[in-house]
Amino acid sequence: MELSEVTVYAKGGFARYEDAKVGLLTHGLQYGTGCFEGIRGYWVPEEGELFLVLLRDHYERLETSAKILTMSLPKSVDELLEITVELVLRNGYKTDVYIRPFAYKAAEDVGVRLHNVPDAFAIVPIPFTHYVDPNRGLDVCVSSWRRMDDTMAPPRAKITGLYVNSALAKSEAVQNGFDEAILLSHDGHVSEGSAENIFIVRRGVLYTPDPSQNVLEGVTRRAIMAIAHHELGLEVVERAIDRGELYAAQEVFFTGTAVGVAYVASVDRRPVGDGEMGPITKLLSSLYARIVTGREPRYLEWLTPAYASARVKV
Ligand code: PMP
Repeated sequence: MELSEVTVYAKGGFARYEDAKVGLLTHGLQYGTGCFEGIRGYWVPEEGELFLVLLRDHYERLETSAKILTMSLPKSVDELLEITVELVLRNGYKTDVYIRPFAYKAAEDVGVRLHNVPDAFAIVPIPFTHYVDPNRGLDVCVSSWRRMDDTMAPPRAKITGLYVNSALAKSEAVQNGFDEAILLSHDGHVSEGSAENIFIVRRGVLYTPDPSQNVLEGVTRRAIMAIAHHELGLEVVERAIDRGELYAAQEVFFTGTAVGVAYVASVDRRPVGDGEMGPITKLLSSLYARIVTGREPRYLEWLTPAYASARVKV
């Protein structure tokens, strides 16, 4: 399906992507004053089902992001869940999808601010496959760009303008021959990737930067911490991580809605372990893949089955 023909949700109703336009001077575009989510849906042909992953968690984070920007969403989280399911069905998607809900400051005038500017909201769903090649490890570097600090603009909110930080780091990394960047926080501790949270394994313990390290509080991060604890009985520790620990770690991997679990093969040209996917990453990655495709009954509550939800309504 052409993007122009995708059905989107905008201005309180459903419309074709092509017909849902924003004006050139829109605040959200000019000043980055908006917030968004990225949500994955996995199509499972054997079941004729499209599973939307941790939908409520994403909309709750969007609500928090909006609150931080003194914005409000036009609908409750419950209503947004329903609209999202309807949107997927209206597009008749029978493929993996990526859903992008966003709220933005909608005035078309000049003057940066948050107050006295109306908010607007939209959801765009698109077909999606892989963000990174799942079959090979990522060669990553520590970025020369530091992660935006909470005293500048809060990274715990998924704010549109903050992605300048991610884009600078990602492009620098790729143009220098790496796949991805790891950003350090202002005080030099490991923060996260350009669009992923990071985990390391040392002596069988799983470590990830704690939320005060300017990370986005990732939905997948939380899911992986729960799986590691409940399914593998691993000790999971949130704490500051030094750059040197990236080099010393037996395993390093990223988590995110787009990447799922992606293993890091090298950091700053130093191989992680033997450069292959480590055993803990392997277990977490395959469990996560099974969970998001509805093959682990204990975790079905993490999923919204779009087509079954529609049948229930009828
Ligand atoms: N950090 C950043 C900066 C991100 O953009 C993302 C992707 N949303 C993540 C971490 C991972 O978060 P999640 O698991 O919620 O997708």
